Amino acid sequence: TPPPNAHGENGPEYVGNLRRGELRGVIKINKDNCVGCDTCRKVCPVHAISGGLGVVHSIREDACLSCGQCLIACPFNAIEQMSFVDEVMKMLDDPNKLVVAHPSPAVRVSVGEEFGAKAGELVTEQFVNALEKAGFVTYDVNQSADQTIMEEGFEFINKIRYWVLGERGPELEEAAKHPFPHFTSCCPAWVKNVETFHPGLIPHLSTAKSPIQMGGPVAKTWAAEYVWKKDPRDIYVVAVTPCTAKIFEAARPEMNAAWHHLVETGAIPADTPSFQDVDAVITAREIAEIFRRKGINPLELPKTRERSTMEVYTGAGTIFGASGGVMEAALRTAYFVLAGEELKNPDIKIVRGRTDAIVEATIPVPIKKLGGKVFEVRVCVVNGALQGLETVLRRIKEDKNRYHFIEVMNCPGGCVNGGGQPVRTDSATW
Ligand code: SF4
Repeated sequence: TPPPNAHGENGPEYVGNLRRGELRGVIKINKDNCVGCDTCRKVCPVHAISGGLGVVHSIREDACLSCGQCLIACPFNAIEQMSFVDEVMKMLDDPNKLVVAHPSPAVRVSVGEEFGAKAGELVTEQFVNALEKAGFVTYDVNQSADQTIMEEGFEFINKIRYWVLGERGPELEEAAKHPFPHFTSCCPAWVKNVETFHPGLIPHLSTAKSPIQMGGPVAKTWAAEYVWKKDPRDIYVVAVTPCTAKIFEAARPEMNAAWHHLVETGAIPADTPSFQDVDAVITAREIAEIFRRKGINPLELPKTRERSTMEVYTGAGTIFGASGGVMEAALRTAYFVLAGEELKNPDIKIVRGRTDAIVEATIPVPIKKLGGKVFEVRVCVVNGALQGLETVLRRIKEDKNRYHFIEVMNCPGGCVNGGGQPVRTDSATW
């Protein structure tokens, strides 16, 4: 039983209702509602669910990735996720707190659908206006996704410089420790999958944090000082995501970079209890619940708004929500730096938004330093861990040079199909 939801009141060892370092139990099966239909077991990417037809199922918490694919597949509403809604409501009522909503790209369509918008209709402005009406200030995850791409894109470029072009130098020391293939790291379920089941791949994972986890420290350091002019200890960052694995990610004990920075720079006293970069994670379903509790219908709000400093971003950040989007955004940056010019057509449709379980492609990049000699970047997108991961891992075991860059998104289709999205009863898999 988790302790009472009370940010800060339980002491620094708690992150919301999670004890720091205890990252289990984000997804639970309600045994009273489980009828043993066996649907959940079939969609779990790591076979962490046991049970059979007519038998109440259970989740092995040490293996669970918290991805919530079982939750959105269950036709009997028997699977539940840890919730921060009550805690967030309490923070919104606290006049001393600046409550920052950090919404992911994939949420701005699904929340509209929760209120009756047409399927696939983008309602970004109305959604952000609703966040504002509910008492949040908005810091768009697309902006921190842009940062992720700069980090990850340059990490990939440095790997090409070290491993392909044979360059050496102090700035390439990290690249020397991280050989190809390069794996994306923005999906916390995939990262946990690697840590738990494939630890030998850890040196291949990008060292870039996910956009949400880059956003948390920016909110509590740079934005606190220059944008909101607020004591970081009074800033409460709420990730609004299509993803239940982000709950697990936000509670990882090492995700307190802002606290470290602020203590080291003397901005806060050294004896300040540690706090997380992201204080709470709520799903698309839950932000809709908060709007309902507050009597807000986003679709009744204006379709325009003047964007604040923290809502400025590029199209590269936006496409993170779809499978292949992270890969496409990183390739655009890599192409620009290595070729010395922009891609003629930045839409690398061969990798993004595909429904195939595995997408393979070769992207020719003319290397400016080599007088335009073309280097072929071999890429692969795993579109849902259950569907394609084992095959791709077998392929790289057989030929470790097969790919340079592999994107893995745990959920089929990417975050647009995440475990925190509204449950579509018309698309149940049973
Ligand atoms: Fe979360 Fe997206 Fe990964 Fe699914 S694919 S677990 S929604 S980050």
